[in-house]
Order: sequence, then structure tokens, then C-alpha cells
Amino acid sequence: MQPAVELREVTKAYADPRGAGTVRAMDAVSLRIDEGGFFALLGPSGCGKTTTLRSIAGFEQPDSGAVLIRGRPVQGIPPFHRPVNTVFQDYALFPHMSVLQNVMFGLKMAKVPAREARRRAEEALELVHLPHVGARRPSQLSGGQRQRVALARALVNRPAVLLLDEPLGALDLKLRKAMQFELKRMQQQVGITFVFVTHDQEEAMAMADHIAVMDRGRVLQVGTPAEIYEHPVNRFVADFIGETNFLEGTLEASGPVGHFRLADGRTLPVVLGAAAPTSGPATLAVRPERIRLTRATHGTGAGGVRLAARVTEVHYLGTDTRYHLVSGSATLSVRQPNTGGQLGAEGRFAPGDEVVAWWQPDGAAVLRP
Ligand code: ATP
Repeated sequence: MQPAVELREVTKAYADPRGAGTVRAMDAVSLRIDEGGFFALLGPSGCGKTTTLRSIAGFEQPDSGAVLIRGRPVQGIPPFHRPVNTVFQDYALFPHMSVLQNVMFGLKMAKVPAREARRRAEEALELVHLPHVGARRPSQLSGGQRQRVALARALVNRPAVLLLDEPLGALDLKLRKAMQFELKRMQQQVGITFVFVTHDQEEAMAMADHIAVMDRGRVLQVGTPAEIYEHPVNRFVADFIGETNFLEGTLEASGPVGHFRLADGRTLPVVLGAAAPTSGPATLAVRPERIRLTRATHGTGAGGVRLAARVTEVHYLGTDTRYHLVSGSATLSVRQPNTGGQLGAEGRFAPGDEVVAWWQPDGAAVLRP
């Protein structure tokens, strides 16, 4: 299927404001964004997310490469002639107009007859669950309501793609969580392709069906939230998405199963994915929740990877407990759910306890240096 948006090797550099050469905000960025999807551009501050969004919108012109919307190259086409709309973080509503006038604005510009424009604007306000505020001014609304008005205004003329720059950034935490579900509901209801920028990995995971992880102008990985969480391609992605333990060592690979030799000489069995590196220095990444703890005196799951360790810190977090362990020259962070079953078998551990930390061989990823 033809993607809604395609970027081919797009590069964009700015003069460094400190006068030290140029900054590559986008470095050969290639992306395919599916029609009807909810796509997140995720990465730390300054990684090039906003520049990527603005290149799709038409506010930035790439130095090289191509942007295509529904298969059509859009170079030289100004923002208002592209089939996209943008919701800015500060919403950019017109303060002197009523909510309804704000939402109708784009339709008026497009010379849609007044009665039709009004009907569609009212429909859009219903979609965002704000049917009764049309007569108010933006200043008479809460932050969350303004955000909805901005969305209604951007959706009212049915763009092919809706671009959202940190759409929930100005809302407090509780409202943000509620709006994550709301945005997803709206996207599913209207079926328009949403592309949004965020530096918050939880937000990206909660809303997007596909995520592009960016760093220093480059796209490091594109995938579903589960693909990125379960199979990060490198250390940066594993570290940025969720929490990870990194163990340094050497991979001894031979077919689909290999051995990972820690700096202190202990070896651990590992399952190698298709993209795993061949023998040599490597990093083993294990998520804290993949590690199980048993008392050193007990047995462990058959076939599991075992590391003798000592508990150094315990933090009770309600739903689960976090343990810090030392094992030889390595340290590990472990999360154990506080379920009856878990506690029933082993109870809780205390600082100083000798334990075995174990996981299934396919529960760890071997990463490129
Ligand atoms: P944030 O989350 O902080 O908004 P971002 O990932 O969206 O960051 P961009 O705003 O795309 O990143 O910026 C990428 C890089 O390009 C940064 O180093 C930034 O300083 C630089 N940059 C962006 N716009 C300009 C500009 N107009 N002039 C000079 N440098 C710029």
C-alpha cells in the first residue's frame, strides 16, 4: 500500500548558532508512514524530531532528499497547499475569535459555504467532546479544552495527515494520561494518519502503533512499540525505551545459540536474533522485569541463565519491588511484581541476601557496541 508520508534520505543542516559550523538536524532520514496509522517520532531533545515534522508540514525545506505525501513529491509546495495540518504545542488559537470561529477558520479560507462550514465545525467539536463551548473565547477555556479546540480546528478540513508537535506537552500529568486515550480514540474514529513528536517514551508507547526512534538527526529504529521494546537494535534504543541492564563482555557466537563471556570470565548462554553481531566485544541487555530472583539455596528454572548475586538495595514500589544486586564486577537492577504467587514462593529479599538472578536465554538481547 502507498504510504501516507514517505521521506527519502532527507538531510537538513542549520548554521550552528554558536558559529561552529553546521548542525545536522536531519541526517539522511528515511521513513514510510502508513496510511491511517498513529506514528510517533521519539527521541531526546535536539535529535531532529521537530525538524522532521516541519519538513513534512512544509515549514522547512530539506537540503537534499525528498518528502512525498500520498506518493506525490511536495518540494516547493507551501504548507497551506499540502494536504496536512499541524497542531502546535501552544495551540495557536486566535484569541479574538470564538471557539466556533476558530474551528471554522480553515473552511472559510477554503471558501466552504457558511452553513456547511458551521455544520462541519460543530461536528468537529463533538468529535473532541466539546459540543457546548462554541460561543466562548479561547481564554475562557481550560488548557485541556484549548487543546481539543486546536485538534478540532486541525481535523475539520479532513487533512490526509495530521501533524502534532508535543501535543500533550502543556498539560499536567493526569490530564496528559487521559488525553493519550482520547487522542487514540479520535484517531481511530476519523481514520486520519497522525504523526506526532514526543520525547516521552511512555507516551509514544501508549499512543503510537509505530515509533521511529531518533538520535542526532538519524533514525535508529522504526517498529511497533513491542518490537522496539523487545528487540532494540542498539544500546541507545534499549536505554531510551524503558530501563535496561547492560553487561559488557565478549560474544562467542556459533549459530543461533551463543555464549556471552563476562569480563570476570563467567559465561552465559544467549539466543541470537538475526541482527545479532558475530563474535567479538558486545553488550548484553536484560530488562529488569525479565530477571527472576531465587534464594541461593533453592534451584532455578531449568535452562535459565544463572548469576549468583548479592542484594544491595531494596525499594518497595507498591505494584512491584526493585532490587539492586551486585554479581562479580556487574550490577543489576531487578523488578519483581508484588503478586501473591511471587511472594508466596520466595518471600521478599533483604539487603545482604545471597540470591540467584536468572532469566530465560531469549530474555536478553545481544547489542552492537
Ligand atoms: P526538542 O524536543 O528540544 O524540540 P527536537 O528533537 O525536536 O528537539 P529539533 O528542534 O528538530 O530537535 O532540532 C534539531 C537540531 O537542530 C538541534 O540541534 C537544534 O538546535 C537545531 N536547530 C533546529 N532549528 C534550528 C534553527 N532554526 N537554527 C539553527 N539550529 C536549529
